[in-house]
Amino acid sequence: MSEALMNTYARADLAFERGEGCYLIAEDGRRFLDFTAGIAVTSCGHAHPHLVAALQDQAAKLWHTSNLFRIPEGERLAERLVAHSFADKAFFCNSGVEAFEGAAKLARRYQHVSGHPGRWKIVTVTGSFHGRSMAAISAAGNPKYLEGFGPAAPGYVTVAFRNTNELRAAIDDETAAILVEPIQGEGGVREAELDYLRELRRICDEFGLVLIFDEIQCGMGRTGKLFACEWAEMAPDIMMLAKGLGGGFPMGAVLANDRTAVGFTPGVHGTTFGGNPLAMAVGNAVLDVILAEGFLEGVQAVARHLRERLEQIAARHRDQIEEVRGAGLMLGLKAARPNAELIGALREAGLLTVGAAENVIRLLPPLTVTREEADLACDILEKVCAEAGRRAAE
Ligand code: PLP
Repeated sequence: MSEALMNTYARADLAFERGEGCYLIAEDGRRFLDFTAGIAVTSCGHAHPHLVAALQDQAAKLWHTSNLFRIPEGERLAERLVAHSFADKAFFCNSGVEAFEGAAKLARRYQHVSGHPGRWKIVTVTGSFHGRSMAAISAAGNPKYLEGFGPAAPGYVTVAFRNTNELRAAIDDETAAILVEPIQGEGGVREAELDYLRELRRICDEFGLVLIFDEIQCGMGRTGKLFACEWAEMAPDIMMLAKGLGGGFPMGAVLANDRTAVGFTPGVHGTTFGGNPLAMAVGNAVLDVILAEGFLEGVQAVARHLRERLEQIAARHRDQIEEVRGAGLMLGLKAARPNAELIGALREAGLLTVGAAENVIRLLPPLTVTREEADLACDILEKVCAEAGRRAAE
């Protein structure tokens, strides 16, 4: 691996030349079933013809103008996101962490302009992940990511996930908002109960707080609905999006209802690259795929099948897999031995997966994964578990 790259990632010694749907093809010709989807990013699979065409068409016309001017593709994407969500307005940025920054700023600013300038603290929960800026690592409060970076940014209070008593006790006159991932990704594919999400809504209404959902990983169809919170039949005030939104083109978004969106007025927040024509063209192409009739129902059907098979495999190999977690195509296997070992063995056998906290292996296939591809992944998993079990017994 090149010495010229900063030493920030523990990469596998594997490079890919191209992708085809659910597959990645290595430089040496080996084919891998990609159940990482670039960590829940390539929602439409690799080299989806509709996305490729949208990118190529736009690339030949116009890449970037800045937000000094109108960007019709962005107006269209915002209108479509608004039409299919709780939101009234969208702000585009380039990544998940920028969506976090935008959301946190908007929540504080909303309180500021609506007569509560003293409300600036944001309550977050243990096990969260919102990105790697100073503010985002401070918000998540995970000591592993904070170590060595000086004092955490002030204004974030972390309470136990799925504990509303602790959360209520943390609210004071300075609280502006509550920020939660409906399903924690990096934290170990930990699901919030639907009642917990509804209770968050009630608490925010009771105390005049802004409810922010980070759907960067669990949104954009990953659970079989466009947004994970739809399963709870409720809505936040602000939602952070990225990852699957661009299908592999870097982009993020902050969605908000009209009530909170008043916090942003010209000059208050912005970005040079966010919402540029190239990104917006791809974002619209991604929505064409995900919003196509029957697509999300198809995701739910494949997800149900995959889940069922995973439960069966886990039951047969408890020495390898303790538990299956998650929802839709955001699934986690809690490993019974170090997850990195199992991830490595799966990779050798042709299945790419990704680790998470709590010794979990994440399965995040493209949303376009077929039942046959899901079966193939399960066959590989079963074989790897059986071999590992045999070796342990020897
Ligand atoms: N929020 C969640 C839930 C995430 O999973 C991630 C990335 O993994 C982020 C925020 C940060 O996104 P990015 O890496 O694009 O900054």
